[in-house]
Amino acid sequence: MCINEHIVIVGAGPAGCAAAIQCTRLGVPPLVLDRTGQVGGLISNAFLVENYPGLEPMRGTEFADRLTQHFARFGIPITRGVVTALARTSHQLSALSQEGITVCGDFGKIHATSVIVAVGTESVRLDVPGAAELEGNGLFYEVRHFLEFHSRLGQTVVIGGGEAAFDYALSLARADAKVILLVRAPSPRAHGRLVEMVNREPAIKVVLHTRPRAIRANPANCAGFVIETSGPNGSSTLQADGILVAIGRRSTAPSLLPGLEADPRNPIMTRDPGIFVVGDARAGSLGQLAIAVGDGLQAAEAAVRHVRENPAVRR
Ligand SMILES: Cc1cc2nc3c(=O)[nH]c(=O)nc-3n(C[C@H](O)[C@H](O)[C@H](O)COP(=O)(O)OP(=O)(O)OC[C@H]3O[C@@H](n4cnc5c(N)ncnc54)[C@H](O)[C@@H]3O)c2cc1C
Repeated sequence: MCINEHIVIVGAGPAGCAAAIQCTRLGVPPLVLDRTGQVGGLISNAFLVENYPGLEPMRGTEFADRLTQHFARFGIPITRGVVTALARTSHQLSALSQEGITVCGDFGKIHATSVIVAVGTESVRLDVPGAAELEGNGLFYEVRHFLEFHSRLGQTVVIGGGEAAFDYALSLARADAKVILLVRAPSPRAHGRLVEMVNREPAIKVVLHTRPRAIRANPANCAGFVIETSGPNGSSTLQADGILVAIGRRSTAPSLLPGLEADPRNPIMTRDPGIFVVGDARAGSLGQLAIAVGDGLQAAEAAVRHVRENPAVRR
């Protein structure tokens, strides 16, 4: 497939959704690609979204459903596709030629005048013996994938000390798991209401200053694991029926176009005219919904302006 588009949006999380709706409102409907073929992104993992101005508190899955409905109201189609690279090119539109960007992926190539990169982040992987082998088979990095896999939730170990780990622990306790939250530092990185909610939850035990050293299948329980840990009192072992890891996230945008650099005058702009990076992909780590949405709106305005200022020219 090789097609021409004015604006391509890569990623249909909150940032990509906001950008797509605004581009459509401004009269330049974009092509929206997402690797999942669905709208919503990372927020469907959230236990409770309560900081989005004007909205009542709701589960992350409900927020994602509302984004899907909002998309549908504007009649914006979503195309399943994994983008693997972006390249700056000059391309031919029948008798016209135009500088632009080639979007490459499992669908082939798409030529665009402007690209909004809203690809979010990927999880930092746990680097201990056994973790890579068990990934997807009992050990997960997103709670939605964990809950899809595990039909019976027994004792679950959540590894991490930030907001995502605390949030995951609450989701698992709500799903009737007994949760051990393993925090490497002497005190958690998360703070405020999330920590208070975890401390009030009897099904969650927080173990501080303790790090995993190795993970292996439990020979006494065909569906379970043994986690070797070390802490101030020396080494120990923990039994788990499932493991969920949240030890950080990093932007996936640099892998699409090496050398992609933010414009110091405006962080959503890049030094490549017509390419914008928004949301968590711009922040470089786990961010916030409202910031992602604000980025998406700003990028839509800039992308539409770029399209209008760069019409195709007759050769
Ligand atoms: C457990 C948890 C709880 C949270 N709770 C809150 C909260 O209460 N309040 C709040 O404000 N924020 C919360 N957040 C943060 C919020 O989810 C993110 O800030 C927000 O989702 C970022 O939106 P985004 O569109 O930038 O990225 P994402 O939501 O990560 O979306 C990126 C999209 O890009 C797609 N994609 C990625 N790579 C490619 C590719 N190569 N090709 C095609 N598609 C691709 C993905 O499939 C995904 O749909 C929470 C996050 C987590 C993990």
